[in-house]
Amino acid sequence: MSEISLTVLIIIEGQAPASVDLKRVDKNLTVSCNCSSEDKVCNHIISTLFGEEAKIVGCDGTLTKTIADMLAGSDVEHAFWKLRDLTMKSAKLKAELAQARTNLGEAIIDFKPW
Ligand SMILES: [Zn+2]
Repeated sequence: MSEISLTVLIIIEGQAPASVDLKRVDKNLTVSCNCSSEDKVCNHIISTLFGEEAKIVGCDGTLTKTIADMLAGSDVEHAFWKLRDLTMKSAKLKAELAQARTNLGEAIIDFKPW
């Protein structure tokens, strides 16, 4: 049986620091946070799993690699990739929406006096 534990300190601007515990036993990955959020998956856990280096205290490449390694092949991996995939699609869609809105803005003021 292989077991790895990791504690990550997360600071999100304007919020108190929170510590996220990751524990991997064989394929089972358990992730918990000590913040007061009622959500099972708070932003600290998301920032940890997504390896958001700007929010992880003392973060270097080693720490994010360890997190990625703990996710890889775990029972959490599939759900994580689904969320990551949708998050990226959502960001792309938001950018397209902003562009479409800009284009509409330009179209409606483009008065041609003929
Ligand atoms: Zn949290």
